[in-house]
Amino acid sequence: MFIYHTIAEIREFVRQARDKGSSIGFVPTMGYLHEGHLELMRRAKEQCGCVIVSIFVNPTQFGPGEDLERYPRDLERDARLAEGTGVDAIFNPGVEEIYPPGYCTYVDVERITERLCGFSRPGHFRGVATVVTKLFNIVKPDQAFFGQKDAQQVLVIQRMAADLNLEVGVVTVPTVREQDGLAMSSRNVYLDAAQRQAALVLSRSLKMAADEVRAGERSAAEIRQLVIEMIKAEPLADIDYVEIYSHPELEPAELIEAPALLAMAVKIGQTRLIDNIILRKGDTS
Ligand code: AMP
Repeated sequence: MFIYHTIAEIREFVRQARDKGSSIGFVPTMGYLHEGHLELMRRAKEQCGCVIVSIFVNPTQFGPGEDLERYPRDLERDARLAEGTGVDAIFNPGVEEIYPPGYCTYVDVERITERLCGFSRPGHFRGVATVVTKLFNIVKPDQAFFGQKDAQQVLVIQRMAADLNLEVGVVTVPTVREQDGLAMSSRNVYLDAAQRQAALVLSRSLKMAADEVRAGERSAAEIRQLVIEMIKAEPLADIDYVEIYSHPELEPAELIEAPALLAMAVKIGQTRLIDNIILRKGDTS
């Protein structure tokens, strides 16, 4: 497996892979890899001859006061884990490689970025859409792989790819969880033992919501209220948002008749965690 730090190097690598007839699969990440990331890589390897993973903690998607500086980083460990899944190359550029002095162009996806994380983290999706566009232009993948863990991000990328006629297939991979239900996240390392336990309230409340739908509850407002109450009963949890919207349109949903996204952001201490589930009327799983 190769590790490249410059755009010129990764472009040359992609050119050679294409010359050999390989299709290109791409997994953009911010590194500090866990099983969730590795699952995306395995899926990419199943579907594409050559898999490229980017590891770049993208400053433009962090707001003031967020965890950009302390975001965990460990390239050596990441390289070992990625190689184990059959990844062909890692692209790990420095900030100035992606945003050289004088940089001033951004991609803004409207409407679906106005709610959920787009509302609570202003500018976040502008940073995500911009860096993903740049990475797509650098790597020129046939298929790119994203996790359902970041449900709104997937919708933003899909919308952007359609609106800008990008020639890339956007593949969504289900959320990978710890055995006890906690959605895997690089940010889970911030949690101490008590917080780690408290963080289970996110997945527990999602499961409760799915059980309610299975038992016949159809009111989105009622389900949302039950979820909020469960999270509020956890003293270490502080709700940023709990919302239910139609999926994939992200329009207000009153009844769970069509698929609906129940998404939440909850602070456990200083750590902001997100999780989600798609509620479906006929779901029996
Ligand atoms: P990140 O490094 O957090 O920016 O995530 C990189 C990619 O991995 C994104 O497409 C995420 O949605 C995906 N991802 C992160 N955590 C998980 C998870 N627990 N399960 C599946 N995909 C994930």
